[in-house]
Amino acid sequence: MGESFKTHRITGMAVDPIHVGTGGGRLGRVDQSIVRDPVTRVPKIPGSSLAGVYRAYAAMAKDKYPDCAGQGQPDKQGKGGHCGKPDCPICTVFGFARSTGGGFAGLAAFSDAQVLLFPVATREGPVWITCPGAVRLVAGNYPDLEDDVILRSQAGSALNFGWVLLQVKQYANGQDPGPLLNKLEIPEYIRQRLAAVSDKLFSHIVNSNLEVRTSVSINPETGAAEERALFTYEALPRSTVLLWEVISKNPAHFKVGNGAVEAVNEMTKVFEVVKEAHPYLECLGIGGMGTRGMGRLRVLSPKGPSEPSAADGGKTGGA
Ligand SMILES: [Zn+2]
Repeated sequence: MGESFKTHRITGMAVDPIHVGTGGGRLGRVDQSIVRDPVTRVPKIPGSSLAGVYRAYAAMAKDKYPDCAGQGQPDKQGKGGHCGKPDCPICTVFGFARSTGGGFAGLAAFSDAQVLLFPVATREGPVWITCPGAVRLVAGNYPDLEDDVILRSQAGSALNFGWVLLQVKQYANGQDPGPLLNKLEIPEYIRQRLAAVSDKLFSHIVNSNLEVRTSVSINPETGAAEERALFTYEALPRSTVLLWEVISKNPAHFKVGNGAVEAVNEMTKVFEVVKEAHPYLECLGIGGMGTRGMGRLRVLSPKGPSEPSAADGGKTGGA
């Protein structure tokens, strides 16, 4: 039956600010806050949000499965909803909610998207910071770092990261994150401007350098700004680099209804369906505020469907 799953590592860069909201109310100075990791407080995009947009965009790419694109609830007449058929690439890859014959979790699973590299303005121009917790998502071994310094390829005088002034030291052995990020297709201009800080400092710098914007709610009927509808929202800034994983499960190990999965007959095909969403992520984006020029996310690796996926995580599971 072969291996039971394969993990694909994906990196993407924010082309616009990205706002994936908590749906909750006011937090501190902003009305609409973004989702954060509960432990590190670093913003992230939940895997459930990724799965939802991937599903919608993969269905758009296939162009034949409009009812299978959304959350799958039939209307009041019982029409629509996920088809749940074994030959539907959307329902088999992303799952379906139909109760007749039971639902199906889907052959693709999505991790949260974590911040790998975060851009900060300094007096020497933009610098992209990372931290041990982020680098370890890519490379198994990376040491903890001191809390009060910034590490770069060359030592220098103190540098401001937003409003934090930090001593710049040179990487010691094994502390340069650059070589560990080699296979991720990160643009050269970013690779030349990397810096590493401790996990604690990373969270601090990221949270004090998010985009915070102010906007007005427009009444869709009158086209006018609603009274007292001024609100602020936060977002990951443009050129933040994110990392997430997609797990493809082996279709041979699953049944849909009582039969085999017909739409995708091997693991590589599962990821091919998933990858069809990538061009749409760059045009249409993720998260709220899409109509305000936000949310577009360019996938850096693996490259487009026509190119070999050299940057796959390469992790496989035994059956
Ligand atoms: Zn379907």
